[in-house]
Amino acid sequence: MSEQDHRHLLGNIDRLADLYAMAKLRGDTSDIYAVQDSLRDEHAQKNTPYKWTMPLRHLYKCRSKEHMVPERLYRLCNPQPHDAQLNVHEVEIREGEIHEVLEHGATLSDEQVRFLRNIR
Ligand SMILES: [Zn+2]
Repeated sequence: MSEQDHRHLLGNIDRLADLYAMAKLRGDTSDIYAVQDSLRDEHAQKNTPYKWTMPLRHLYKCRSKEHMVPERLYRLCNPQPHDAQLNVHEVEIREGEIHEVLEHGATLSDEQVRFLRNIR
């Protein structure tokens, strides 16, 4: 896989329901995490793929030392992958990792690649 393939695969994340964005839209920001967790339960029951987000308290300083990005942990879940044999139903990825792939030619892990390839 080329570096470009890895960048391209990251676009598949956008096909997942963004629970954090949905929770924000629902209003009361004080319990955005509780709303996000209940959305997660709803999506899990319906077997629909989603992205769950946890913003972290620190900035990620990238390997080039040129950039600082707000770090976030994403938990990506796909209850019904396109390839039924696939056992990777859930992976984690951080905003810092995404930055390294998009900006500095880093590659995704094998598990992340398999997961992202199998999003319908
Ligand atoms: Zn950078």
